[in-house]
Amino acid sequence: MSNKTITVALAGNPNSGKTTIFNSLTGSRKRIGNYPGVTVEKEQAVFKYKGYQIKLVDLPGIYSLTAHSIDEIVARNFIIDEKPDVVVNIIDASNLERNLYLTTQLMELNLSLILAFNMYDLAQREVDVMDLDKLSQLMGTVIITTTANKKKGLNELLDEVIRVFKEKPACNDYTITYGSKIQEEIEKIEEVIRKDDRLAKRYSSRWLAIKLLEGDDDVSKKAINGSCSNELVAVIAKSVKRLKVMFGDDLEAIFADKRYGYISGACSEAVVRSYELRHTTSDQIDKLLINRVVGLPIFLVLMWSVFKFTFVLSEPLVALIENGQNFLANLAVKFLPVGGAIQSLVVDGIIGGVGSVLVFVPIIFLLFLAMGFLEYSGYMARAAFIMDGFMHKLGLHGRSVIPMLLGFGCNVPAIMATRTINDKRDRLVTILVNPFMSCGARLPVYTLFIAAFFSQEAAGNVLFSLYLIGIVVAIIMAKIFRNYMFRGEANAFVMELPPYRLPALKGLLIHVWDMVSAYLKKAGTIIFVACVAIWFLSNFPHNHDIKSKQLEQSYAGKIGKAITPVFEPLGFADWRTSVALIGGFGAKEVIIATLGTVHSVGDNESGEALRVKLQNAIDQEGRKLFTKLSVYSLMVFILLYMPCAAVIAVIKRETGSWRWSIFAVFYTTVVAWMFSFIIYQGGLLLGLG
Ligand code: GDP
Ligand code: MG
Repeated sequence: MSNKTITVALAGNPNSGKTTIFNSLTGSRKRIGNYPGVTVEKEQAVFKYKGYQIKLVDLPGIYSLTAHSIDEIVARNFIIDEKPDVVVNIIDASNLERNLYLTTQLMELNLSLILAFNMYDLAQREVDVMDLDKLSQLMGTVIITTTANKKKGLNELLDEVIRVFKEKPACNDYTITYGSKIQEEIEKIEEVIRKDDRLAKRYSSRWLAIKLLEGDDDVSKKAINGSCSNELVAVIAKSVKRLKVMFGDDLEAIFADKRYGYISGACSEAVVRSYELRHTTSDQIDKLLINRVVGLPIFLVLMWSVFKFTFVLSEPLVALIENGQNFLANLAVKFLPVGGAIQSLVVDGIIGGVGSVLVFVPIIFLLFLAMGFLEYSGYMARAAFIMDGFMHKLGLHGRSVIPMLLGFGCNVPAIMATRTINDKRDRLVTILVNPFMSCGARLPVYTLFIAAFFSQEAAGNVLFSLYLIGIVVAIIMAKIFRNYMFRGEANAFVMELPPYRLPALKGLLIHVWDMVSAYLKKAGTIIFVACVAIWFLSNFPHNHDIKSKQLEQSYAGKIGKAITPVFEPLGFADWRTSVALIGGFGAKEVIIATLGTVHSVGDNESGEALRVKLQNAIDQEGRKLFTKLSVYSLMVFILLYMPCAAVIAVIKRETGSWRWSIFAVFYTTVVAWMFSFIIYQGGLLLGLG
């Protein structure tokens, strides 16, 4: 039966439509994106077609077969090592010159290659004549035209796959001519390669020779350890030396030039276009959107709209979840033994815990729906472009700006949104400083304190100053991380501006679903466990039925009391405040509820009651617990100290290790302590106490 199984690899540039084709053929749902770097790993699926079992592999999107990125190495190692029966090169036919660059390299690998000219609908609109026969002849391969999102041409493509598999047409004798001088050297190296059976079997000798001349590290390492390696090293060194004398130092560039030259030659022979509609439309739109004057305001307005959209629409959904939670809690209260640990576990621990996981879902859903729209339409690349210069000054990348802004809403989706940052170090720095962007959950806490201790006139300024401190600290920390922990030049890469496209709703929903399910699966359990842990800490050992007394002598209360001296220099050393800060680990808004409990505010009392209690609270020596200065110091601490459990869970998920989560907990808390210290002690010195 094995001759009935065909392994087919899809290779192509990012955004050429590989995943769309993969999904249409296999029926599997995978994220479709208009953004580089979306498909990180190869995906595979098996399906039946005309009696054949077809194993389809979606390789990462790549622009060439050099070894400059992991994606490229993954893709080419798959092709070389797994030797798929057929390689289908998916090409965005509306962007032919650029896409064919990869093709010229695939052709040198001696594969059973088929070219799928995808986006043929767009190509037809933009190009007057595309002589496919001519192109097919020039490239030495079959060309099938497809419009993947309308499922056009896919059966023809499969038929061709089967034909190529059955007939195994002789590998085309097409070669790009790199000129006689280079050709001579290629042949010399090929000769040595053919002497080594192991190499000859594994690689196309011509391709290998070219890679070795280009100085490809990955290939060199693998190739130069066989029986002929000494001879090989010698002949390569000689050839490289000779060619460098002739062409200058950068041989890779010489090869690239030749390939592009070939492509532009082929295209000018076979393609006639009067104008590039999609690009000119995009260029027109860009005149406005990346304009020096209005580009930034438009960006800010769009981000503001995303926020409005998310937080206005999510409000009723969050309320719905909270109502459901209350409903279940009431049921539990009715049917479970009164006042027992079980009732408390179910009501406060489990239902509360599940609730704290679920309340993020509407926000994540809506935020990524809006952001996905901007991303897939091509706008996100522009936003990164506009902000790039500014963000570089901060030691970050243009793409970091979106996650930072999202942080003002909620750090959980904000950290998930760092996935669009390609550079690992940039991404990690962006993740680590994100919690300083003051999220929506911290706002009610500030509001409570500000209303209790500051005049109405001062309120706005105080609030604004907190947000500002968050931003400044984020910038300082980003600089420090960049300079000391994650050193190195920012990766230079082309800021691509893909043409604008109206995103497909289905793709958008798949993307949103991916985000929500990733959150639920990977972060949900951790958040839940954290909530139950906090419940446990506040309810055990159980001695009192009066809530405030119970909390005081619980583990949480004991920990609170133990850590209180640490806050002495910050101006808010009181066990009640400490316990509330511990509660804030579950979620920042929990600080309010915990303060209510420890200051014995009844369940039915209004918010006003807590405000008055805070104003009048006294410490053991009978002094006022809070002054303006100590409250400000406390708010700064709440702004900066350890992120909530959900954020920690998401950092773990996104960085793949607990190390960074734990690091985030500690370093933010240390930073918070230092800033509160400076503010409180500075304030005392200035006589503000
Ligand atoms: P990949 O990066 O190569 O996997 O590309 P995707 O499959 O993610 O596709 C990128 C975008 O192009 C998506 O928005 C698709 O809906 C869209 N797309 C894919 N094929 C076609 C096509 O034939 N015509 C048009 N107009 N759009 C397409
Ligand atoms: Mg893809």
